[in-house]
Amino acid sequence: MQPSLPFDANPAREPQEPLEPLEPLEPLEPLEPLEPLEPLEPLEPLEPLEPLEPLEPLFVRHPRARRYVVSVRADGVVRVTLPRWGSMREARAFAGQQQHWIERQRQRLGKERQAAPPVPEALQRESWARAKRELPPRLLALAADLGLSVARISVRNQKWRWGSCSRGGHICLNWRLVDMPGWVRDYVMVHELMHLRRMDHSRRFWKLVAAACPDYERARAWLRANSSPPWGGLPTNSTC
Ligand SMILES: [Zn+2]
Repeated sequence: MQPSLPFDANPAREPQEPLEPLEPLEPLEPLEPLEPLEPLEPLEPLEPLEPLEPLEPLFVRHPRARRYVVSVRADGVVRVTLPRWGSMREARAFAGQQQHWIERQRQRLGKERQAAPPVPEALQRESWARAKRELPPRLLALAADLGLSVARISVRNQKWRWGSCSRGGHICLNWRLVDMPGWVRDYVMVHELMHLRRMDHSRRFWKLVAAACPDYERARAWLRANSSPPWGGLPTNSTC
């Protein structure tokens, strides 16, 4: 969850010299100078899994399950199914034993993702620039509403999650949030902001989220349903 990319402002436009007016015939108006193209910012390369904040497995109890089952979802999130009689302690231990298998699955998913048809680069660059411009101010506004202060904000090309929050108060946002419906984007932001209060995903954490974002279940459902398209598969996992 340790972020790195500093938020920097838009690249400045360079003024361009006006074209010389055409010679004698039509002295009507000098030609307008062409608008210079904005220099494109290079896209951040895809990151490997961020090692500092391992994705938390989802533990799901299933009445018909006869044993513990581990699976890896398309977004890289590990799901551990518990039989009715199962315990969390055993489920965690079981997931721990499967770590090698889990890593292999994630590597396979990573390769599949890279093989997916890419979104045209120009579009990505445009969204990326917009994300850097629009996401940090929105996060700050929500933080102010909630009386929370953020130490630092980064907009990143996160591979496995929509956002993350460090103990030091550094919040990272996935640039793809910029193309989501505002209420979903806000939920992700509120989720990360609430980690400033609690660094876990406990019941108390979710109560804080619910109080600040009553519609959060709908937003999570949206994220689950819209995980892959249009950019060829990314996190369904809402956040960290
Ligand atoms: Zn979280």
